[in-house]
Amino acid sequence: MRFNTKCIQAGYTPENGGPRQIPIIQSTTFKYDTSEDMGKLFDLEASGYFYSRLQNPTCDNVAAKLAALEGGSAAMLTGSGQAANFMAIFNICENGGHIVASSSIYGGTFNLIAVTMKKMGIDVTFVSPDADEEELNAAFKENTKVVFGETIANPALTVLDIELFAKVAHEHGVPLIVDNTFPTPVNCRPIEWGADIVTHSTTKYLDGHGVAVGGAIIDSGKFDWMKHADKFPGLTTPDESYHGIVYAEKFGIEGAYITKCTAQLMRDLGCIQSPQSAFYLNLGIESSHVRMPRHVENAQAVAEFLENHPKVAYVNYSGLKSSKYYELAQKYLPNGGCGVVSFEVKGGKEAAMIFMKALKRCAIETHVADARTCCLNPATSTHRQLTDEQLEEAGIPAGLIRMSCGLEDKEDLIEDLSQALDLI
Ligand SMILES: *Cc1c(COP(=O)(O)O)cnc(C)c1O
Repeated sequence: MRFNTKCIQAGYTPENGGPRQIPIIQSTTFKYDTSEDMGKLFDLEASGYFYSRLQNPTCDNVAAKLAALEGGSAAMLTGSGQAANFMAIFNICENGGHIVASSSIYGGTFNLIAVTMKKMGIDVTFVSPDADEEELNAAFKENTKVVFGETIANPALTVLDIELFAKVAHEHGVPLIVDNTFPTPVNCRPIEWGADIVTHSTTKYLDGHGVAVGGAIIDSGKFDWMKHADKFPGLTTPDESYHGIVYAEKFGIEGAYITKCTAQLMRDLGCIQSPQSAFYLNLGIESSHVRMPRHVENAQAVAEFLENHPKVAYVNYSGLKSSKYYELAQKYLPNGGCGVVSFEVKGGKEAAMIFMKALKRCAIETHVADARTCCLNPATSTHRQLTDEQLEEAGIPAGLIRMSCGLEDKEDLIEDLSQALDLI
């Protein structure tokens, strides 16, 4: 199957006379004829369903589609993007471990790594997303277990040099995890560039309609855990909580990581996606290859309009030739990145407030990446506790607007921006 066909048909094949659409298996539990049958499942001797906290057929069908789209060997859904990133890292980096992470990542993930995982005894070194090989090498420690970054960072819109980050990670014997939320597999497939594990907040473009919070983890099945056995004892030594199974031996290079993450972390943490949410997610994925190009087309048109506007100080969009990330975007995102653009209106907080108030088509929301266009002025909303000086230091000027271009006619979006800018 080619990519667009996979968006529609991968992950679920109906049986003769079976439902055409992925059925929503709204059942917590599954029935067996004998205790022996069920015992085999608990021992991971046979595959099958017994309780939806571990696995559910609807979620598995959608996860299998995502594995096919990203070019991975196995995948699982989680209750949110936060859960996906936490479990993806924690599956291989426990108490005493160390993470090398790009500093340009989603605020929630930054906090997860810098504060919450720190409390669990996991250390981190943040590096610039623009770090060269030497700077990256210097960030590694004896106990480094993983490297983490975002293909296109939310909200800074920096573009990650995936090949470089993967090369350096592999030289140090650890995998690269890439959060691919903003481009989706439609616009970038990090595994093709050397990433080992991909994560998503499916809440964003994959859902695409702002209906269900969710996440996903996809394993490339290419990282050789046994080759670096001493670094990853959780995968390469017996799991006493599962009858002494050695995941890397029993499930091999393609299955070990996701099986451990399901059998151990999902069992114990329970942050599942509901079958109903997975069903909605699948509807979004089916049209993702049609929607993403339109998000990109609208964002490119909006960015070009804003770049030439006298009341705009600068525009941040990697599809603009003036962008610092234009070259990297041409390489990793040749069909465009995503629909999110950020720009600074001249005149600071006051100008931004006038502008935001005047918007008619663009809604004021903290969300991004859905069919409806929305705008946010961090200085007067998410970051309103900061002074103008603190905002400047954080790289968030008071006049900064983040705009997520939806699927409306681009002319309507530009007209709305134009009338609002005129009022400043
Ligand atoms: C939104 C987002 C997250 C967090 O996802 P939730 O589904 O809100 O938990 C993680 N990474 C990126 C890049 C995001 O945009």
